[in-house]
Amino acid sequence: MAQRIIAAMSIFRGLLLVVAVWLVFVISRQLFRSHRARKTSAPGGGTTKTSAIKTHYVDTVDCETCGLRIPKTEAVGHDDRYFCCHQHRAPKTHAISDDTE
Ligand SMILES: [Zn+2]
Repeated sequence: MAQRIIAAMSIFRGLLLVVAVWLVFVISRQLFRSHRARKTSAPGGGTTKTSAIKTHYVDTVDCETCGLRIPKTEAVGHDDRYFCCHQHRAPKTHAISDDTE
C-alpha cells in the first residue's frame, strides 16, 4: 500500500517537474518573442548592413565636409546641410561664426 503511495507521489513529482519545465519554456519563448518584436529584426549576420539597420532605427544624415554618417539629432545643421561638428560647418559656411538660436 505504502509503495503505491510512494509511486504515485513520484509520478506526481515528475508531472510537477514537467509542468515547471514547460512553464519556463513558454515564459522564455514569450519573452524572446516580445524582445524580437521590439527589435523588429533578428540580430546576427548583419555585418555589411550596419548602416542600413542604423537608418532603420534613427534618421541619419551625412556630414557635408567629411561624409561621416551621424544621427540627425546629433548633427550640426544649417539650412538643409548637416555637419558632424562645428569645425566642419565653419569652412563651407563663410562669415557665420556665431550660433544665434
Ligand atoms: Zn564632418
